[in-house]
Amino acid sequence: MAYARFSEGDVYVFGTVWGPDRAEVFECMQCLFVDIRWVDDPVFGGRIESATGEPTSYITESRAEMVAHLRRHHEAGHKVPAHAIESLAEETYWGKP
Ligand SMILES: [Zn+2]
Repeated sequence: MAYARFSEGDVYVFGTVWGPDRAEVFECMQCLFVDIRWVDDPVFGGRIESATGEPTSYITESRAEMVAHLRRHHEAGHKVPAHAIESLAEETYWGKP
């Protein structure tokens, strides 16, 4: 389930599973706070990766941390749909509080 999509703003946030223990996490995909660059790829044409080799997404198990992360996006001037923060703050079935 996506809480926000790029068609609505500057963030794409969804719940998924992560790691060998398949923990329930929230992911801010291709996060604007990550220094992302385009890398040409002869097989696939190209791909994005972070300049540091870190993941290009912000990932957390904590719903409250993702809400705070989205508020940081908003404060930085990034377009974050209000319903993304509201639905994350209200739901309880995914991830940890
Ligand atoms: Zn982000």
